[in-house]
Amino acid sequence: MDWYGEFVSKLINCRLCPRLVNYRETVPPLPKFSGSDYWRRPVPPWGDLGNARIMIVGLAPAAHGGNRTGRMFTGDSSAQFLFRALYEAGLSSKPFSISRDDGVRVRCVYITSAVKCAPPNNKPTQGELSTCVEHWLRWEIEMVRPRAIIALGRVALEGVGKALGARLVFKHGSYVDVMGVRVFMSYHPSPRNTNTGKLRLGDLVNVLMMAKEYVGCP
Ligand code: SF4
Repeated sequence: MDWYGEFVSKLINCRLCPRLVNYRETVPPLPKFSGSDYWRRPVPPWGDLGNARIMIVGLAPAAHGGNRTGRMFTGDSSAQFLFRALYEAGLSSKPFSISRDDGVRVRCVYITSAVKCAPPNNKPTQGELSTCVEHWLRWEIEMVRPRAIIALGRVALEGVGKALGARLVFKHGSYVDVMGVRVFMSYHPSPRNTNTGKLRLGDLVNVLMMAKEYVGCP
């Protein structure tokens, strides 16, 4: 993917959203880390760049997850839940995602987010969502050309809809075909959803398996 290097080098210098730039750069570190352990920039996507048939779109990096480790869905509890599910679905080499050098490899999957900077309380404004989607997610979808997208949560689905020019209605476990892409929907694997049982591991594995079968990932 020749575009990927250019994409990441431009993305990590983005400062279009002043509120999010301030938050990502100043959020206090967790006690077991120091401020210098933190990435504090827009968080790059990653995945099976040579065979990215499924695009997984989260909401945004977590303040102490991607904003610390510098890789999307890496280093926080949402990431561990997602990667247990990816591993069970045969789409990840390991059932965890803890750092950029953890050696994890994913298959057929490209992992990104609707908003690329950690927002306070995990809540981007509508303006921030639109700005980020228009500058980055739309570009990614055009270049990756996934056969399936898995939107994790309502805000992620809204971002995917903006990128595809469609108004999409969220329903966990369902899918809709838009512009030649099948968009699957799942609740986000946030602690609030997983600790309450709103999203169980098997539920997410089922959505991943549906997408895997649809795109024909071997
Ligand atoms: Fe740029 Fe997106 Fe971060 Fe806004 S959220 S500063 S558009 S990378």
